[in-house]
Amino acid sequence: MKKTYKVNEIFYSLQGEGFFTGTPAVFLRFCGCNRRCPFCDTDFADGTEMTADEIISAVTPFQSRHIVITGGEPTLQLDCDLVRALKASRFFIQIETNGSNPVPTGVDWVTCSPKDAPWRVDRIDELKVVYQGQDVEALIQLLPAPRLFLQPCSGENINETINYILAHPHWRLSLQTHKLINIQ
Ligand code: SF4
Repeated sequence: MKKTYKVNEIFYSLQGEGFFTGTPAVFLRFCGCNRRCPFCDTDFADGTEMTADEIISAVTPFQSRHIVITGGEPTLQLDCDLVRALKASRFFIQIETNGSNPVPTGVDWVTCSPKDAPWRVDRIDELKVVYQGQDVEALIQLLPAPRLFLQPCSGENINETINYILAHPHWRLSLQTHKLINIQ
C-alpha cells in the first residue's frame, strides 16, 4: 500500500508573511502539530489522506512553482519522497516550521517560527518570531538566521513590535498581510 500524508488543505494564494510576502504560492497545509500555542488560529485537525502522486496532481495545475509547506507542524509528515516528487515538478519548496525537528534535504527555504523548546531544526533561512515581549536577542543566539522578522501577536501589539524594531534595527517587521487584505 502506498504511503499517505494527512493534508488539511491545498490552496493558491499570496504568501502573506515574512521574506516572500506578496509572492504567489501554492499552500500545502498538513494536519497535526506537536505544540499547543495559546494564540494558535490555525485549523489543522481535520484532513484527507493523500499519496504523493495525489498531492502532485493537486498542486501542479496552479501557475506558481513556489510551494509553501505549512501546518500544523509540517516536519511531522514531510519526507524525502515528497520533496523529491515536488522537485521533479520544478517546485521551489519553502517550509514553515516551529523548529522542533530537522528539515528534509532538498527543501529550498526554511522559515522557522519558533514556539516552545526543544528545537532540533538544523538550518534556518528566515527566523520569524511572534513577538510577545520575550527576550528575542537570546533567541537569536540559540537559533541563528541570516534574516530576522518580528511579527505582532495576532495583530494586537503592533506599536510595541514597531518600537522594538526601531531600537533593534537588525529586525524587520512582518505583518499577516493576507488578513489585512482578507485573502486566504
Ligand atoms: S506551532 Fe504553530 S500550528 Fe502548532 S499550535 Fe503553535 S501556532 Fe499552532
